[in-house]
Amino acid sequence: MNAPTGDNNYEVVVIGGGAAGLSAALILGRSRRRVLVVDAGAPRNAPSAHMQGYLSRDGMSPAEFLAAGRRELVPYGVEVRTGEVTAAEPDGDGFALALADGTALTARRLVVATGLVDELPRVEGLAARWGRDVLHCPYCHGWEVRDRPAGVLAHPAMPAHQALMVSQWSSDVTLFLDGTALAEGDARLLAAAGVRTVADPVAGIAVEDDRLTGVRLADGRTAGCEVVFAAATRLVARDGVLRGLGAELYETPLGSFVKTDGTGLTSVPGVWAAGNVTGPNEQVVHAAAAGYRAGTAINAELLMDDLTARADAAEGRTG
Ligand SMILES: Cc1cc2nc3c(=O)[nH]c(=O)nc-3n(C[C@H](O)[C@H](O)[C@H](O)COP(=O)(O)OP(=O)(O)OC[C@H]3O[C@@H](n4cnc5c(N)ncnc54)[C@H](O)[C@@H]3O)c2cc1C
Repeated sequence: MNAPTGDNNYEVVVIGGGAAGLSAALILGRSRRRVLVVDAGAPRNAPSAHMQGYLSRDGMSPAEFLAAGRRELVPYGVEVRTGEVTAAEPDGDGFALALADGTALTARRLVVATGLVDELPRVEGLAARWGRDVLHCPYCHGWEVRDRPAGVLAHPAMPAHQALMVSQWSSDVTLFLDGTALAEGDARLLAAAGVRTVADPVAGIAVEDDRLTGVRLADGRTAGCEVVFAAATRLVARDGVLRGLGAELYETPLGSFVKTDGTGLTSVPGVWAAGNVTGPNEQVVHAAAAGYRAGTAINAELLMDDLTARADAAEGRTG
């Protein structure tokens, strides 16, 4: 790793500038910490025109939300750089970081708020509609597509779950199993919810006049619907920096995530994580809250470390 040049030494480096990272940076900046946010600029919900379910911001555009978040950092002197942190390693009492452009940084504490990537199932035409009429979560988009005919692509580990959830928003739901077997007890709940199942292999998404019109099956038929919930998506945490530091992970049926305590502290002392890199159900409001929690925990730890060192020095003790 290169040595930092100039003033590239920070109290806290926040890796990732989505809701989690910006929120951590805001409270750390307000705590008079020297903070840098490094952000690669690919927030998970960027494909959606609107962000739902964030109290007081329901319906705002994701881009405007993050732009407002960045503006709020300015008065507190928080720096934001576009870039990608490729590695971090312990360095004295803190960490040395490498950016993809060769920049070297140091930080006493880290917040990793790098989010996750949605790996869509390989269904022709799906990716092009992602965030429009191919959706991931009924809490985020169910209201907007309520009462419309909906298809759900089954997740292998939880085949019926998403279709059962979507039945809260629409009475016209078709679950596409595409080779996945239902789990025990699923059939009776699907019947109670009025959800149809289609077992045949899925070939692609049917689109007419820039509107989703159905799910194409391998035998040439098309099952009509106006929106598709892609429950079969694999969630891949952007955890390269955390893995490199040896942080402990945990497995879920939807993917693996970094283990944290109630403040967001990972198994690596000095490294906090917040947002979607810590779990699959972290919506924007959760991510923002988790960033705040991590920020306050870091500020308290830095303060106590510094005061202890000062008290030791005053008493003539060395650390
Ligand atoms: C299509 C879609 C629509 C959604 N709609 C909603 C909604 O309406 N309401 C809602 O609450 N939730 C919604 N979500 C979920 C929402 O996207 C997440 O809850 C939210 O993005 C999590 O915030 P985060 O800060 O953890 O991660 P992100 O917002 O993904 O931000 C992570 C940031 O870190 C950056 N990054 C990653 N790795 C590095 C690195 N090594 N170095 C530097 N930067 C890095 C990324 O480029 C990105 O900018 C939606 C998700 C999808 C897929």
